[in-house]
Amino acid sequence: MADLLSKDAPRAEIQRAAHEIRMKLNPHPSGQLDANVPVHEGHRKTGLQHTYPETVLIFPRQGQTCHTYCTYCFRWPQFVGESDLPIATEDVAATSAYLRAHPEVTSALITGGDPLVMSTQVLRRYMEPLLEIDTVRSIRIGTKSLAFWPYRFTTDRDADDLLRLFEQVVASGRHLALMAHFTPPQELRPPVVRAAMRRVRDMVPYYQFVERDTGPQGFFGVPLARGSQISRDACVHVAGKHEVVGLAGALRCVRGPPVAPHH
Ligand code: SF4
Repeated sequence: MADLLSKDAPRAEIQRAAHEIRMKLNPHPSGQLDANVPVHEGHRKTGLQHTYPETVLIFPRQGQTCHTYCTYCFRWPQFVGESDLPIATEDVAATSAYLRAHPEVTSALITGGDPLVMSTQVLRRYMEPLLEIDTVRSIRIGTKSLAFWPYRFTTDRDADDLLRLFEQVVASGRHLALMAHFTPPQELRPPVVRAAMRRVRDMVPYYQFVERDTGPQGFFGVPLARGSQISRDACVHVAGKHEVVGLAGALRCVRGPPVAPHH
């Protein structure tokens, strides 16, 4: 790929090379297409994943693209245009029916791609029905937008509407969390990122992702002991009592009842 780019190869040739590289990667690690897709009334719910008893992942169709391409991403099949690969749904009623049939699910994670590429109006279509399901007590949104499009929370046309939607979730008595991706510390430095974080500052920094075997994730890998120490150091800056626990793909600070990680 470096060769092709350096000699300014035609776009089609670059795309062909990218496709070949992708096909050697691991598009759905940990058996996600087989093990995690729930079945309801005889139908596979291909836009949901039920990974842990208390957690369901929702992949809104309009949110299956992302602000960036992280080399360690294992959601890349969601947005590279390989049509048979994405996990996605826009059937909000079917999602609600599944959640109502599974009262053990207390946590809904809206993910992608990046759900915050969606307008607030579209995001609202997915979030409001969750507020009508009493057993869903926690709603999480996995997003890179705080780092890569902080204007989503500050000056975008519907930034204020987005914060009002967040307030609506909180006012319903549910826990709302942004699972924000930050990789190098430089991503935290731009003033607009800080302004965006101030607008959503109720976030609790309780996750730290641990690399998975997805392909080119090596740059970001650290020994698990080092990862645990980083989490521990971060946790002491968060009010309340915490401990660090390891789960598949994540380390997290625990405060209050456990919630399984996303991805
Ligand atoms: S922000 Fe998340 S979904 Fe987007 S490319 Fe990076 S790891 Fe993948």
